[in-house]
Amino acid sequence: MKNHIIERVKDYIRAPFAFPGGYQKVLVMSDGAVLCHACAADNFRLIVESTRNQVPLDQWAADYVDLFLEGEPEQCEHCYATIHAAYCECQECEPGDEPGDEPEEVNQ
Ligand SMILES: [Zn+2]
Ligand SMILES: [Zn+2]
Repeated sequence: MKNHIIERVKDYIRAPFAFPGGYQKVLVMSDGAVLCHACAADNFRLIVESTRNQVPLDQWAADYVDLFLEGEPEQCEHCYATIHAAYCECQECEPGDEPGDEPEEVNQ
């Protein structure tokens, strides 16, 4: 079971986007935090050690890797990079949905 999640983490580092489809994946740690694939790669040894020998409140124990299909963007716990869902609808991913970006005329 624990080796299984380590394989999933390796897979996430190699391919942060699922194939086929290109869907974003996320690594969720045992404390509920999310890690981007770059931080997972940088800290892979820590993750392996912590996942194999879990101690309470250990921040590097991996819980699962899953597809991140929709919902609010997540933030990497380590580098604060924003991770967008495959079908993210935030301003950054879906610009132009709201035409009201220009400042309103207040003097009339
Ligand atoms: Zn990160
Ligand atoms: Zn987005």
